[in-house]
Amino acid sequence: MQYLGGRRSRNILGGRHFVVARRLDRPGFPTRACLSALVRATVRELLRKVGPVTLAIAVHDLHMHYGDFTAVDGIDLEVEHGEVLAFLGSNGAGKTTTIEILEGFRKRTSGTVEVLGFDPEVAPLSWRERIGIVLQESEPVPELTAGEAVFMQAGYYTSPRDPVETLELVGLATSADQRTRKLSGGQKRRLDLALALVGDPDLVFLDEPTTGFDPSARRESWGMIEALRDLGKTVLLTTHYMDEAEQLADRIVVIGAGKVVARGTADDLAAQVNATTRISWRPKLTDAQPPSGLGAQIDPATGIARIDTDDSLVVLHQLTNWATETGVQLPELNVARPTLEDVYLQLTEGTGR
Ligand code: ATP
Repeated sequence: MQYLGGRRSRNILGGRHFVVARRLDRPGFPTRACLSALVRATVRELLRKVGPVTLAIAVHDLHMHYGDFTAVDGIDLEVEHGEVLAFLGSNGAGKTTTIEILEGFRKRTSGTVEVLGFDPEVAPLSWRERIGIVLQESEPVPELTAGEAVFMQAGYYTSPRDPVETLELVGLATSADQRTRKLSGGQKRRLDLALALVGDPDLVFLDEPTTGFDPSARRESWGMIEALRDLGKTVLLTTHYMDEAEQLADRIVVIGAGKVVARGTADDLAAQVNATTRISWRPKLTDAQPPSGLGAQIDPATGIARIDTDDSLVVLHQLTNWATETGVQLPELNVARPTLEDVYLQLTEGTGR
């Protein structure tokens, strides 16, 4: 197991050259992530029919108190083997505390926890070898080259992955001879992943892998995480980004103030909130008022007219019919489904943290 010490520090995956084709990127075609999620879900469904599913992680009624403060307040969590689960929550929601308990670095107050069949508090060394951890931050030994660091790390395991292959997997093969202090930020994050993977873990914890990344580095990191999934690893990913969770995870668990507030696929989560469609446009002051039955409201701050509806097709039809008949132009007409960010904000609203 790789652990780089201290309170979790920032360790972000990324870099320029590791590209895994992810999308067919043609309208109407599902994404590659979508397809492989579908295949894995089907396989899991078949396995369920054959016999009980063995869980990589099983947590029941987990509590963690820091003195009088309750950081984790009765969390239940199940992650199947080969599943990518995203653990979402605001700052201070209790993600890191929960993950550290699962990794065996923090002693829980109460509750049951099984990770790869063991209680992390008493798990043997062989268990630790089956777990890879990529922290939010890390600082590799500056005098070593990237290749030396990965070879050295491999030496700690009884049956490691081939270090050369691991460097290739994370896109670091061409930088293997570079001293780690000379690696770019993105390359260092690739190295972090290589160090976590060289032990050939079954379960990988990724803590906020793309926080602080620019958009293209985030996309590249997603490619690496998808590569992990394709290797059949179970991945528990913490993130603040709903789009990241949607892109990478089979299921999402949202926590707020130490409790699970929602769980399921991105679609399941959207269905749990009032996910109405918003039709909006920027009316001219001289325009006729739309029929009151459409329920249009004008935002006084922006001057934008909007209609929130569950039946967007019918409402849009009525609105455009009215506009055509009265000669109103409906400038900046827009029809928008709520983003997952909106869904997340609704789910965590009122939790405080
Ligand atoms: P972030 O997204 O900011 O990393 P998080 O969801 O990971 O947040 P935690 O780090 O688990 O949240 O913290 C949960 C709560 O517990 C926070 O209010 C935090 O201040 C508190 N906390 C965490 N560690 C300790 C500690 N060692 N002693 C006291 N309180 C702590």
